[in-house]
Amino acid sequence: MIEHNDKHDYPMNNEKVVYLKGLDAEQLKEILVEKGYQEYRAKQILNWIWKKGESDINRWSDLPASMREWLKGSFSVEILQLTDKRISYDGTIKFTFSLVNEPNIELESVLIPSRDGKRNTLCVSSQAGCAIGCTFCATGTLGLLRNLQWYHILDQLLQAQKISGKKITNVVFMGMGEPMQNLKNVIAAIRKMHDFFDIGYRHITVSTVGIPKGIIKLADELPRVRLALSLHSAIQEKREKIIPLAKAISLDEIVEALKYYYEKHGRWLTFEYVILPGFNDTMEDVTALVDMGNRVPAKINLIPFNPFPEAPFRAPTKREIYRFAGILERKYPYPVTVRMPRGRDIAGACGQLALLHKREQLKESQ
Ligand code: SF4
Repeated sequence: MIEHNDKHDYPMNNEKVVYLKGLDAEQLKEILVEKGYQEYRAKQILNWIWKKGESDINRWSDLPASMREWLKGSFSVEILQLTDKRISYDGTIKFTFSLVNEPNIELESVLIPSRDGKRNTLCVSSQAGCAIGCTFCATGTLGLLRNLQWYHILDQLLQAQKISGKKITNVVFMGMGEPMQNLKNVIAAIRKMHDFFDIGYRHITVSTVGIPKGIIKLADELPRVRLALSLHSAIQEKREKIIPLAKAISLDEIVEALKYYYEKHGRWLTFEYVILPGFNDTMEDVTALVDMGNRVPAKINLIPFNPFPEAPFRAPTKREIYRFAGILERKYPYPVTVRMPRGRDIAGACGQLALLHKREQLKESQ
């Protein structure tokens, strides 16, 4: 056990053993120096954990045997535990993890291999559950369970790579949670994805419902990261009906923050738009989207709604999807693409599995 642990506030498990994965370089150096080891050992340890993905301390061969013994007796390594894995016919893999020291808290990650086999995109969670409560989202029905620490976010990459055997090339923050409401940990995790996993900032996308303060902070700290706005309606009144936070933050405020981001980033942003048939796919919606596009350069990703039990909307038909996409393509100033949902057969949309597990737990407790 680490001496004077209480004064340092290191991340610990329920037995008060410190998690190695939860320590950054500075914290680790501090502990090592206090114990009489040299600082450079911290880099070796972090490389074993994050770069080589080796969690068995016995195999950390460039460390002296006595040091390995001390590490084994003083620390715990793992922080996430796999609780569910489902593989879709289309190659998508959905992982559900629980926190080792809070097994009731679940989070999800989805690995989406590109059809040409060149990219493996991991959709990560920044929070367990979400406080925003969008009406078309399964995660929103869970409420916020907790913010994830940077190491919970980073470990989703490590676990997904180890379990699938595939190298993650791209990351999207489109799993559970609103990244701007946990931005400190999101930024720390992104920096480490770049350092430990060699993922370029331009291959990382942060998706937000639109929190101007967070957008501006991200632009200042990591301007090369891609930004996506979960728009879903460019009409203020309609947006308020599906995204409760929209009542407090207007589209005009969001547009100003997006312009700031665009100036720093220098490339088109992305508007994510879930097609909710009969609600946001009318001519009035097309006009509002064209107006948005004229204010901020952004391509549009149309996503057919993927229903979950008790969802207030149905899935659009293929005809509805391509009618709307066709009209938009003709009128909108930037590219419009349709992103067909992957992993439908394994409850691939964010929050669906966690919701399923929560229901099962409720049933068992009745
Ligand atoms: S869509 Fe995103 S912001 Fe809205 S409830 Fe779901 S996870 Fe939260």
